[in-house]
Amino acid sequence: MNGLLSQIIKIFLPPRCIKCGAVLSDDDGLCPQCFNELNFITAPYCYKCGHPFEEAVSSKKLICANCAKKHKTPFRLNRSALYYDDISKDLILALKFMDKTENAKTLAKWLCMAGYDIWKEEVDILVPVPLHYKRLIKRRYNQSALLAKELSKLTGIKVDYTSLIKHKATKPQVQFSGHERVKNVRGAFSVKHPENIKGQRVVLIDDVMTTGSTLKECALALKKAGAKSVDTLTVARVI
Ligand SMILES: [Zn+2]
Ligand SMILES: [Zn+2]
Repeated sequence: MNGLLSQIIKIFLPPRCIKCGAVLSDDDGLCPQCFNELNFITAPYCYKCGHPFEEAVSSKKLICANCAKKHKTPFRLNRSALYYDDISKDLILALKFMDKTENAKTLAKWLCMAGYDIWKEEVDILVPVPLHYKRLIKRRYNQSALLAKELSKLTGIKVDYTSLIKHKATKPQVQFSGHERVKNVRGAFSVKHPENIKGQRVVLIDDVMTTGSTLKECALALKKAGAKSVDTLTVARVI
């Protein structure tokens, strides 16, 4: 009944800006003022890890010094839509902790744009970064799964919600920094149905990329299960 009621209310109430609440003429998610405050990660950036370059460079597929050095990475491409700052933080925290699940629709549009190079390289499935079941019960939804669901509607790429699992409960990554983050999530993820992952080109979906330790652990589990490639796509990234 509550669901139906909220559907009816939505029909009669005009769409509002998901950040400031201003009434919008179209359901665009954000009003023009709030949209202008967003800091999108734009070219030039490293073709592989997506890290933006400070200086303008003309070459198309430029690789950063870090990627040129590092040979062993489980990722093919990493992309994020926004710089992680106060503006993107608010939108993401609202989706994550304040039941603003409708934000997923707008954030997924930006994921779709940021994934341009990934879609060009071709992919088979979207996989959201999973939560441990205890945290899922507490929060009632997985924000990454909501993002993947909305992104799937825009791209037509299927979502695999069940193969990758977080079997180990870990402390929230915000409590740690650097190497401690790596240690905290080490071995926390596994693939329950390797037959669904084998030979697949996977895009991992998450809200924020901080040091990349969580995404790396997920990618290692997916690779172990036989994934052909793993790309990552997040709403924001700490630069
Ligand atoms: Zn606004
Ligand atoms: Zn790079």
